Amino acid sequence: MKQKIKSISKESKIRPRKHLGQNFLIDHGILGIIADAAELTKDDVVLEIGAGTGILTETLEKEAGHVIAVEIDERLVSVLHRRFSQYSNVEVVKGDFLQLNLTELMASSTLISEKSKVVANLPYYITTPIILRLFSHAKLFERLVVLLQREVAERIVAVPGSKRYGAFSVVAQYYSDPEIITVVPPGAFWPQPKVDSAVVRMLIRETPRVNTLDEEMFFAVVRGGFAKRRKTILRALSMAGKTYPELASVKEDDLKRILAEVGVDSKRRAETITLGEFGQIADAIVLERSES
Ligand code: SAM
Repeated sequence: MKQKIKSISKESKIRPRKHLGQNFLIDHGILGIIADAAELTKDDVVLEIGAGTGILTETLEKEAGHVIAVEIDERLVSVLHRRFSQYSNVEVVKGDFLQLNLTELMASSTLISEKSKVVANLPYYITTPIILRLFSHAKLFERLVVLLQREVAERIVAVPGSKRYGAFSVVAQYYSDPEIITVVPPGAFWPQPKVDSAVVRMLIRETPRVNTLDEEMFFAVVRGGFAKRRKTILRALSMAGKTYPELASVKEDDLKRILAEVGVDSKRRAETITLGEFGQIADAIVLERSES
């Protein structure tokens, strides 16, 4: 398979571009694991971000009903056009995924399937912004099955009190039920990345894990709390008003009272606080504001 990828690259005079995160998958076994985790059927529409030379696209084409393959690198877009021009169920889209209008991109697919699946070997340098973007359009998707750095995968599934638990864990678990399917060693790619990778499946929840009065406030409390990780939740939130306007008018004394009301010790740090507790803090701030 490495030979196949290399020969596709060579034929098209393509050298992998490091700055575009071009680590091509060369391990057949991993393709199978990704496809199994996606549980594809011919009724599925799949969005692939960073289709590269089309190695995963080929599997998706066989198992799904329709594939939208996005790729930023013109040289690879040409390869994809050549490889898939015969297939009416593969749509190659040239562009920077972070700049594309996602609602427009997926508009025609909702005619085929109510919700789509994202299946991708992501470009590592923009993994987090891509996932955040997908979550901000969570209603469009049923699941995300992505290959990404192991460290990011561990952040996605991290629980309170663990080293990797942070704002990104809370956001991921707010929108989805995440699971690490397998760890993937550098040897599964050409060229090899420096770190381990992992396949993660995130099943998008019908309703977010926490029922909040105001989502903006919830995320402000989460981000504000983690912005000063080493400080207590009380100090971190007191200082967060400068960055998060939602928290601008909340004074330290009010916060102290609110934390006591919801039963969160003000000396705790964000890294020990559960999604439910973040939700309670955010709701109490909203209620306090509406009363004043
Ligand atoms: N899917 C292929 C595979 O599994 O071998 C390639 C995966 S490679 C890790 C990531 C791909 O994302 C590269 O082909 C790269 O050119 C593409 N890419 C990088 N930045 C992108 C962006 N902003 N939008 C769309 N594709 C991007």
